[in-house]
Amino acid sequence: TLNLPRIAYRARGDDDRLFEEARRLMDLAVEIFKVKKRWMDLAVKAGRLPFAVQRPRDPRTGRRGPPAVDLDSLVYTIGVVGGNEMAQWHTGYQLHESPEAVKLLVKLLLEMRKYKVELEQRTGLRLAIARTPAESCAQRLAVADLISPEFRDMAVKVVKGDLERAKELLAEGVRDVPVYYTNGTHVYVGAQIPLTERISIEQKFWPILSGGNIFHIWLGEAYPDPEALFKLTKRIATQTHIGYFAYTKDLTICQQCFEVSAGINDVCPSCGSPNVKYWSRVTGYYQEVSGWNEAKKQELKERYRTRISV
Ligand SMILES: [Zn+2]
Repeated sequence: TLNLPRIAYRARGDDDRLFEEARRLMDLAVEIFKVKKRWMDLAVKAGRLPFAVQRPRDPRTGRRGPPAVDLDSLVYTIGVVGGNEMAQWHTGYQLHESPEAVKLLVKLLLEMRKYKVELEQRTGLRLAIARTPAESCAQRLAVADLISPEFRDMAVKVVKGDLERAKELLAEGVRDVPVYYTNGTHVYVGAQIPLTERISIEQKFWPILSGGNIFHIWLGEAYPDPEALFKLTKRIATQTHIGYFAYTKDLTICQQCFEVSAGINDVCPSCGSPNVKYWSRVTGYYQEVSGWNEAKKQELKERYRTRISV
């Protein structure tokens, strides 16, 4: 998963250098894929992947079928993180602040897609440029830049989260700190813009990426109007390029009376107990918030939740 903001730091405002740097990182990714492939080939040869390469017998003919997993047809995925911060550093605007920022990210992804085809021809590997879940690397890459003497001064200007708290913790040697780069090609989670505007920005990246992308709808209401929910769902499914989307309602689960209530509540609305746990969608799945890393917890606080009822 490529650290897009770092590409922008290195480019110093020059588009050509931005694209050049992206290609260099893609070359690096391919070298890693080659190592991985060599490792897998050796593992197969040594009989270390018996389940994946098993050839089950056809129950009727008794003849063996093809291997369960066709390792040669694997697609190697290059992911992206921090498209928003890349654009922010390079253009001065975040995705939700200017069409110029959106245009730059589209352009960068198109350049990457073009180069992907070239790399496929050169290496024989099947490659994909996709959004990856990046639950840890959205934090990890931001931290890597914050502790790097080369990138620190630039990173502090665009990383999201609680930078002051993160700086204190980083100084103590802690690495699980509440800062992050925006996931994939998403708009900053805290951007206070209407849902329709976020749809119109994020849908532009769908036709360019070959998978992995998700559009989040962070619900701000405990019980949105079903009719409004239906209309929105229909609209996204039939009138946008968004191919996969998720509604997320935060949940509070009382450890005293086990009542499940909507939203992040300090105390259980039913029995008043402060002994509560929270569940929400970290990126793809619902998980208990206490198990999230500090960056994702911070992101949860910053998510701009929308009302969809009229
Ligand atoms: Zn309770």
